[in-house]
Amino acid sequence: MTRAVVIGAGIAGLAAAAAVSPFFDGVVVFDKDDLPTGPRPRKGTAQDTQVHILLKGGEIWLERLLPGTRAALLAAGAVEVRQAEDVSMWERDAWQAMRDLGHSQLMMSRPAYEHALRRQVMALDKVEFRDRTAVDALPKDTDLVVVATGRGDRLLGDVDVPATSLGIEVNYTSARFAKPPRFRGEGRFIGCIPLPPDDRYGLVCPVENDEWLITLCSRFDNKVPTDLEGFRARAASLPVPDIADRLAEAVPLGPFSSYRIARATWRHFERAVDRLPPRVLPIGDCISSFNPTFGQGMSVAAGHAVALREALAASKNLDDVAAAYLPRAAEVSGQAWGMAAATDLEYPRTEGERPPGFERMLQGSEAMRRAAALHPEVHLLRFEIGNMVKSSAAARSGPAARLVAKEMLRRS
Ligand SMILES: Cc1cc2nc3c(=O)[nH]c(=O)nc-3n(C[C@H](O)[C@H](O)[C@H](O)COP(=O)(O)OP(=O)(O)OC[C@H]3O[C@@H](n4cnc5c(N)ncnc54)[C@H](O)[C@@H]3O)c2cc1C
Repeated sequence: MTRAVVIGAGIAGLAAAAAVSPFFDGVVVFDKDDLPTGPRPRKGTAQDTQVHILLKGGEIWLERLLPGTRAALLAAGAVEVRQAEDVSMWERDAWQAMRDLGHSQLMMSRPAYEHALRRQVMALDKVEFRDRTAVDALPKDTDLVVVATGRGDRLLGDVDVPATSLGIEVNYTSARFAKPPRFRGEGRFIGCIPLPPDDRYGLVCPVENDEWLITLCSRFDNKVPTDLEGFRARAASLPVPDIADRLAEAVPLGPFSSYRIARATWRHFERAVDRLPPRVLPIGDCISSFNPTFGQGMSVAAGHAVALREALAASKNLDDVAAAYLPRAAEVSGQAWGMAAATDLEYPRTEGERPPGFERMLQGSEAMRRAAALHPEVHLLRFEIGNMVKSSAAARSGPAARLVAKEMLRRS
């Protein structure tokens, strides 16, 4: 009998259990929390009351790991948001174009995503859950251990791993709202992310039960008020009125909750394969955790899990899996990190090293944004790279890439 253990039943742990289950006789998933029977927030995932967006790439990866995921999310009340007709996104100094890109994204609250996925994984006959079990040391009596304990991981704390880290100081404050009658049935996602160094931004996410999850964010010491009046006033200070308009009549369904993300961290386990205990593999936030504004964490966890499944399929021996898996997982983290870090480092107060050629990189991403407004094919490419459907390398060749290069030349 071969047995795998997954520690942590967040999105990364669930995706990991699905990824490894075909290769073992049994998989046990441990979590310290009392896992709820419904879509409810829980202590071990304190970020779960904030807006969580599943990228298109994440949805595709989850569907590969757990066929039927898209249908399960829709059945659990996910709102299908068509890209980009159902999206009002104010980015820097302009609205993004609203046109049909042929994609849609499924939006719901993080507890609802997790609950729907947990049900999918529970239905796999080889997987068993043991909740209310905090694991304080790596288990020894097992064939493979996947560590999915999140950004606060301690189980691999003694492993000497090189890390990249940015001091980002992002603050999120969110609440669920009942929609006023004139907005009922509206499945519109609204975002307002002004030009740096302005660090106030906001997101209105349509979620299950025809409710809104509204998040206002800031960086550094520019805290978002946690009372209704202050929250509304902060929304009214954004450069476009769309979020404040919705908040004016929306009724909060619970308290405001805040979450502070001091640092983005990427632990380069791929450069320390031999330093990990044998047959112990990290996944999800335990490897890389970003500024969440770009909605990448759950999708990256799913991408890691696909990498894990491919590494297991390609390895003759369980001792070889780490060397096959960790570089693949690093590629997934790298794409997300590149996008988030480029924006973070544009804020002068972000602590971290600006890579060589950083200004040129910013000019490239600005050229792509402007070209996307003009050309549907660039808009689609930008969506697909940002949503991890395509790798960043896709921006370097092809007709859309040539339009971006032309835009860059035009402005230089
Ligand atoms: C404010 C905020 C907003 C975010 N928004 C988005 C978004 O829009 N889109 C997106 O994709 N991602 C978002 N994320 C990131 C996302 O939450 C995570 O990246 C994603 O859920 C993957 O996390 P994980 O499963 O690796 O870790 P976690 O979600 O932290 O789960 C870790 C699990 O391990 C358990 N655990 C921990 N220690 C132990 C132990 N010793 N023994 C047993 N169990 C243990 C915990 O109870 C928990 O269940 C956001 C994050 C934050 C902070």
